[in-house]
Amino acid sequence: MLALCALAAVAAGLAPGCTDQVTLDADSVGGDTVSNPDTPGGDSDSGGPLQVIELGALATDAQGISAEVAFEIDSAASAFVIELNADEGVALTIASLRAPDGLTVVPPAWIGLSGSPWLCETPCANRIAARPGQAAFLFPNTPLMTVRPGTWTMRAYAFSATGADPAPVAAPLSARVVVVRTPQGRTPGNALPFNLCLTGAMGINAEIAQAHPRVQAALGEVTATFAQAGLVLAPLRYLDVVDAPQVVASIQGDGNDLHQLFSASEGLPLGVNVFLVERFDVAGAEGHGAGPVLGIAGGIPGPVLQTGGPRTGVAVALALELGQPDRLGRVMAHEVAHYLGLFHSSEAAAVDGSSHHDNLPDTSDDDPDNLMYWKVGSGAGQISADQAAVLAHNPWLLADQMEMEKLSADPIEADSGP
Ligand SMILES: [Zn+2]
Repeated sequence: MLALCALAAVAAGLAPGCTDQVTLDADSVGGDTVSNPDTPGGDSDSGGPLQVIELGALATDAQGISAEVAFEIDSAASAFVIELNADEGVALTIASLRAPDGLTVVPPAWIGLSGSPWLCETPCANRIAARPGQAAFLFPNTPLMTVRPGTWTMRAYAFSATGADPAPVAAPLSARVVVVRTPQGRTPGNALPFNLCLTGAMGINAEIAQAHPRVQAALGEVTATFAQAGLVLAPLRYLDVVDAPQVVASIQGDGNDLHQLFSASEGLPLGVNVFLVERFDVAGAEGHGAGPVLGIAGGIPGPVLQTGGPRTGVAVALALELGQPDRLGRVMAHEVAHYLGLFHSSEAAAVDGSSHHDNLPDTSDDDPDNLMYWKVGSGAGQISADQAAVLAHNPWLLADQMEMEKLSADPIEADSGP
């Protein structure tokens, strides 16, 4: 079997089984439910398509939990991404997230309920997956929830990213929220800035890649795949990266190869970085057994609107195992879809025969024709309407409509709670 996305598999392997019948429970406990200060309508159409809210520095306590921090979502917002950053040895997720109407989108007790902080599945209708060092979380990633305007409150959670025991840790971290705004009359973004990052693996640099039949065929498949969701790769750039490992032999711990690879995107123009490496020497590190790893995404989703970080990209292997069909284009599309926020439509069946699936109503169970099926194969690589809707929420699709300089020079401060 050919295992995709080792990190996703690790997370899924640690998670309990899942049922897709999930109801968001409105948490009525406590008197700290924030009333909904509706944003005046006049604000809705002002501002750009993207808003960056810097939440600043946070710290977790010995239980791994940070102070509560609040941020305002206006009525033009259709989605947002929460991003957390810490040292590489610290894995990051969300301890709790409360909507303006009191709905607990991420229930405060979920880590204790699920038994593992790597993935919130059943208690979270809007799934979240932890990552070491740099983690991002897209809301909504399911039609089961919508982003409501008003004051949202969040607590971060930090735990040890190394070893078998994901114990909570006290750690400094930073947080920000990137808000997608689609006021009436504004066209949602559909251009995905795509950086093909050439490490020189297998003798392919940026110049050669532009006329390389195999690379071009793969990009053709990626283009056709995302066209199903109305997305275009634009701009598509071929970029040489220096000092990047061509073989990824480690994916955990300080300075691991994957971290080095993704960090080699520092200084590149803004885009989703797709690194072509020779191979991954990490077979067996993922939850799916002995198959070769074909691709790894920096996160589900990956960081947005930035390059040069430890998770800013996806990596895809060029080497072909003996007898293995060439799935380069399929794997590239699958990993980029993870990076934009899609989970596997179906995971591999567990030893006891149970299986689990994504949080989207219109993806079929155990459908090998879906792009996000856990195993690469000869299926059709289909994207469902619900999956296309998740992709459309990602801030990367608005990157060409924004002025980055303005955003970075003019951050919006948010209140930090006690
Ligand atoms: Zn995958």
